[in-house]
Amino acid sequence: MAAETTSVPSSFTSSLREDRIFPPPAEFASQASIRSREQYDALYRRSIEDSDAFWAEQAQLLDWFQPFHTVLEWNVPHAKWFTGGTLNLCYNAVDRHAKGARASKTALIWEGEPGEVRSLTYEELHIEVQRFANVLKNLGVKKGDRVAIYMGVSPEIVLAVLACARLGAVHNVVFGGFAAHALADRMADSECRVLITQDAGFRRGQEVPLKSIADEAVERTPGVEHVLVYRRCGREVPMKEGRDHWLHEELAKVSSECPAEPMDSEDPLFILYTSGTTGKPKGLVHTTAGYGLGTMLTSKYIFDLQEQDVYWCTADVGWITGHSYVVYGPLLNGATALLYEGAPNWPEVDRFWDIVDRHKVSIFYTAPTAIRAFMKWGAEHVRKHSLSTLRLLGTVGEPINPEAWMWYHREIGHERCPIVDTWWQTETGSIMIAPIPGAVATKPGSATLPFFGVLPEIVTKEGEPVPPGHGGLLVIRKPWPAMARTIYGNPDRYQAAYWSEIPGSYFTGDGARRDEDGYFWLMGRVDDVLNVSGHRLGTMEIESALVAHTKVTEAAIVGRPDDLKGEGIVAFVSVVDGTEVDKSLADELKKFVAKEIGALARPDEIRFTQALPKTRSGKIMRRLLRELAATGDVKGDTTTLEDFSVVAKLKEKDEE
Ligand code: ATP
Ligand code: MG
Repeated sequence: MAAETTSVPSSFTSSLREDRIFPPPAEFASQASIRSREQYDALYRRSIEDSDAFWAEQAQLLDWFQPFHTVLEWNVPHAKWFTGGTLNLCYNAVDRHAKGARASKTALIWEGEPGEVRSLTYEELHIEVQRFANVLKNLGVKKGDRVAIYMGVSPEIVLAVLACARLGAVHNVVFGGFAAHALADRMADSECRVLITQDAGFRRGQEVPLKSIADEAVERTPGVEHVLVYRRCGREVPMKEGRDHWLHEELAKVSSECPAEPMDSEDPLFILYTSGTTGKPKGLVHTTAGYGLGTMLTSKYIFDLQEQDVYWCTADVGWITGHSYVVYGPLLNGATALLYEGAPNWPEVDRFWDIVDRHKVSIFYTAPTAIRAFMKWGAEHVRKHSLSTLRLLGTVGEPINPEAWMWYHREIGHERCPIVDTWWQTETGSIMIAPIPGAVATKPGSATLPFFGVLPEIVTKEGEPVPPGHGGLLVIRKPWPAMARTIYGNPDRYQAAYWSEIPGSYFTGDGARRDEDGYFWLMGRVDDVLNVSGHRLGTMEIESALVAHTKVTEAAIVGRPDDLKGEGIVAFVSVVDGTEVDKSLADELKKFVAKEIGALARPDEIRFTQALPKTRSGKIMRRLLRELAATGDVKGDTTTLEDFSVVAKLKEKDEE
């Protein structure tokens, strides 16, 4: 079967120059769990050279019902980790903290968009999750069943996820911003029997009618037998007799004791669909022990979790970041995690910073798209808040432009907080490349060095290593515990998409380069690469040059067929509010790019736009822009697009 990626380039031309370097702040490093580069290097070396011993040791961080006998069985591309072992991740995330010194420690702090606050200790979480699991049990949910979850962010979604894990049911969380057909497709593809949803959720002051969207989806998905409904907003919703059940009514009927099901290490934990940035979403399957260990260990070391931290990852639970770093990673470590239901700009654009100060957040993890939005809204809104409790910042989802990195460092981190730029994917389950903050010096725009046990390499499409400074394909040479095991119901697609391009290696679909210090720089998706006069250019570097211009807040680069050069460069650009956009600004930007990174990268055309088309998780969808630039129309899959009006507006402009 042919690989899914059509035009994989052999290598990339790289032109970004970034010399700034930020050593771990001394005060941070002195208290960190890994506090020197030597310590990181030694652990990393051992994790690669003696990986079975390393992982066997780390696996003791989990509580096992029955110990494993084999660390890894590896038959490319099929990995089995920790075979023979049994455990339960809900037990690991909740029960074991609910008994000891952490029983009265806050596990979750939740803030609703209208402003109400609720928190649960580990002891309370323990009781609530058992009750929730008993409700699911009464609906006939048992080990191996698939359960769809379509909710907003609240303690209830965490309980829903953990209750599934407790029973051994496979959760399939679908982001609450998706439309009925997207929910229906995902429920049908993963063969769900039960759906957990809520009456409605709050978003930007509006009520999102989740239950009625879910009703529409369930109408199209005959396999769904039960719908469990959490009452969040108190909204009147039709309840279908025999099928729909109010959560609070069901909770009133059950006991608060429900033992955690012993699961085999390789039993599936969840199915999750990718963001769909490059095409049709894939339902990745993650299993129990490897995923649990991967998320626990990365959270512990990359976020340097300490007992007193208040940790906030702003991702929705519906994305992999929410699974790994809102739910599993922090709770497996017994941390205090903050959840926020709503939008960052409601009621005002400083809502996040207000939350950070009020709840004394110390670790903050968000996406470049959010950082660029805060930049656009202006630093004056941030400066109204002290942010003095913050000690570590993180970013994930897209390459972060050095300009945005510097802004984050200055305005949010007050030049005191290390920034961890974390590269990973739905498929990888946990973070793969990121600095260990007390040990590794950071460079704006680089995800720096691999996590323990991760062996990334930059290669040509023939699989040959690419020398430092040159771009190529990012592959992973060794299996790691949290890797996805397959695509649900489609093992051939799993093999074709990830394991056929470079035989024996995991193909990430991303382009990257490594610098002289061994640092990794993500250059964009291989599908988005341009071929200009025989040079393969990644999108990231040209976009970063544009974003470095004071008037530009966001940019997307795509290629357009060009008789002379092979491809011409089209830049879609949004500018700081109030900037006049005209031909002279376009000329200025073209010159600016040529000066910053070379004439080769000079855009042939600049198109100004209010907004760029993005996925619902905030990633720029260049494939739609590419289609638009080439044909003036968009016919590709737009089901995961956030706001279709952005594309409609761009098309209108095209027709002018
Ligand atoms: P699809 O696979 O359906 O196109 P997607 O790749 O956007 O969707 P995710 O798994 O959510 O789905 O995203 C992973 C991708 O996000 C990575 O392959 C990479 O392109 C990008 N990414 C994530 N974090 C970073 C980062 N820190 N730096 C650069 N790129 C990142
Ligand atoms: Mg992807």
